[in-house]
Amino acid sequence: MPGADEYTPLAQAVADDARKRITLTGRVVPRPARTRLLTLANQKGGVGKTTTAVNVAAALAGAGAQVLVIDLDPQGNASTALGIAHHAEVPSVYDVLVDGTPLADVVQPCPTIDGLHCAPATIDLAGAEIELVSLVARETRLKKAVDAYVAALRAAGQRLDYVLVDCPPSLGLLTVNAFVAASEVFIPIQCEYYALEGLSQLLNNIELIRSHLNPELHVSTILLTMYDGRTRLSAQVAEEVREHFPDQTLRATVPRSVRISEAPSHGQTVMTYDPNSSGALSYLEAAVELAERGAAPATSEESA
Ligand code: ADP
Ligand code: MG
Repeated sequence: MPGADEYTPLAQAVADDARKRITLTGRVVPRPARTRLLTLANQKGGVGKTTTAVNVAAALAGAGAQVLVIDLDPQGNASTALGIAHHAEVPSVYDVLVDGTPLADVVQPCPTIDGLHCAPATIDLAGAEIELVSLVARETRLKKAVDAYVAALRAAGQRLDYVLVDCPPSLGLLTVNAFVAASEVFIPIQCEYYALEGLSQLLNNIELIRSHLNPELHVSTILLTMYDGRTRLSAQVAEEVREHFPDQTLRATVPRSVRISEAPSHGQTVMTYDPNSSGALSYLEAAVELAERGAAPATSEESA
């Protein structure tokens, strides 16, 4: 009979982490043929949108990609987690949306991770939701700014592989701007009760945006977060999500992890705060999967 400890959940988790450490650490992700624009969305708050945005962004950058995070939530949690200044005087996404300031003028480098940049959110952004209403082309202002930024980088011979937009938990004009700017929607789903509640509303909204404002928009990626392998409930939620979204749901799942929740108070993502923790390894695994799914085919020509 095998030793009981080889089969305990703890022993399994340790073995799993060791496997991820060996297979994923130091990995360089393949580049997409052109800049991938993803919006992190879920109308529920506290499901891990911001945590997923910053950690996947950090993992991609750590694996050699050039990444921009756009913080569209007035709370500025993504800015905080990336160690980016975002007090009231800092030029921010507010200036981009309301005054038409070029994105390049507000983007800051992440101090702890090469290849990672952030357009911060300040508290002003809370007002933008209302100020935008009376502006021309109010739904396409972020898209214009992002497209111009990507084009300017390309003209200068620089590359940008990923743009991840972190949304507030509501469908106002800020989120609409994110859906219009992006082509991919990335939905984190918390493996808890009511996880799927609100999902059909989110999908309806995406469909509305798709038919009226952005025909390219589609749900490309779903990540199961706060997964607890010991509970039946997590397994049930995961099973149900995979059944409905077999192609979109990443194989990687992110466990509930204290290290993940501690990292932002140190102005860091878990990728630098504790890179060997199971949370960091899971986000790395998710990022590698995301990159490999959207990799440029080997024969593709460089996009114009
Ligand atoms: P949202 O952006 O959807 O509102 P957050 O990413 O801010 O959600 O996450 C909500 C809270 O849950 C935060 O306090 C965050 O630190 C915590 N959290 C997120 N993911 C995890 C995880 N995998 N393990 C533990 N805590 C987590
Ligand atoms: Mg958030």
